[in-house]
Amino acid sequence: MRPKTRKQIEVVKLSGAMRSLTSAQLSWAFRETHEHFAYRLKSGVATCMDCGHEWKETAESDTMCRCPKCGARLQVKDTKERVVKQKSYFNVITTKADYQVIRSFQIISEMRKGYQAKYSAMAICEYWIDPKGGKTVMGLCRAMNSYFYDVFNYCSPFELRHDNEAFQRIADEWVYPRIKVTDIIKRNGFAGCTHHINPVTLFTQLLTNPHAETLMKSGDIELLRYLCYHPQEVDKYWNTIKVTKRAGYKVEDALLWFDYIKMLDRMGKDLHSPTLVAPRDLQATHDEYVAKVERQRIKEQKEADRKKTEADEAKFEELKGRYIGLVMSDGEIVIHTLNSVAEYYDEGNRQHICCGSLAYYLKPETLVLTAKIGNKTIATIEIALQDCRILQCRAFANGVSEYQDRIAQIINDNVKLIAERKTA
Ligand SMILES: [Zn+2]
Repeated sequence: MRPKTRKQIEVVKLSGAMRSLTSAQLSWAFRETHEHFAYRLKSGVATCMDCGHEWKETAESDTMCRCPKCGARLQVKDTKERVVKQKSYFNVITTKADYQVIRSFQIISEMRKGYQAKYSAMAICEYWIDPKGGKTVMGLCRAMNSYFYDVFNYCSPFELRHDNEAFQRIADEWVYPRIKVTDIIKRNGFAGCTHHINPVTLFTQLLTNPHAETLMKSGDIELLRYLCYHPQEVDKYWNTIKVTKRAGYKVEDALLWFDYIKMLDRMGKDLHSPTLVAPRDLQATHDEYVAKVERQRIKEQKEADRKKTEADEAKFEELKGRYIGLVMSDGEIVIHTLNSVAEYYDEGNRQHICCGSLAYYLKPETLVLTAKIGNKTIATIEIALQDCRILQCRAFANGVSEYQDRIAQIINDNVKLIAERKTA
């Protein structure tokens, strides 16, 4: 993107004047964000994959040892492999003019047995946060790739970009420990540690959200962390948070606590009662409320089901009431209507058909009848009310009824009876 606004022009200019990574930053990133190995053969000879030095190592496999030459801490691996390639991301947090800047780099390394390890870094993106919390993003162009989020076009110009998931995730990776922040961020409580919160989110919140400032200053890091990902919830329950603070309660597990508070809220409990919102045993009280909420949910579901059944019965009465009790027969086969919603369900369950579950009792244009010989159901029949045409005649589990023709005859003989009910 070409810079258009005054701020964008300024950011592009300042970004171009940033210093390159120092060797201290680069070697920190290699040391801390990549793994380091002593590759050991069966003979017991280990090779430091950092510097290439060889020696006899007796430490157990997968434990740590130290290279006698370069002093690197290494993980002992019994392997014949000769090459290790690694990639990671790290961030340098600094300032420029009035801006808080988060610079994200990719570092790649290649370790080859017997040689000094090689590594290099390149800038992937930068977040420029102004004193009001506004973000401007510089970076490389992302290459479209459906398997990896972090594929970039390394030849693309480092320029203004839209914020995106790849940059956000990278900014949440390793942070170089020497952090420089603007005076405003310092004044708003930042004391030199991001506490593994995404620095872009953390600084934006510290600049724009007074609650973030309060929590940072009071050392409520777990609540601050929660705020960075759910600012609206912290807003909504801010008064409850204040109640816990006055009660001298420290929220250690913010996820669990918010989960619990939201349940109290759902149950209509008093969110300003210290005994409720600051429980002595959060886990136990939380679990107790999980059970309460579940009981409440079942109760509500039952109530909703009951209301629905009532409404269905009323509707059924209105639609089919006039046909209730209709019976016809040829002397052996007896056909009669299903006379309630419950009978539709019973028939459906008994015959393994869907006249209940698909709410045939609410179909305005049709009527369902059941045909029996003695106590045995031989078919379930759906007819069109308009002309008494048979739409379906099903035996058990949607099978074909062997009495189909006789049933058709009976219905045919009683068209007049049905029609009388229709006009009644
Ligand atoms: Zn070494």
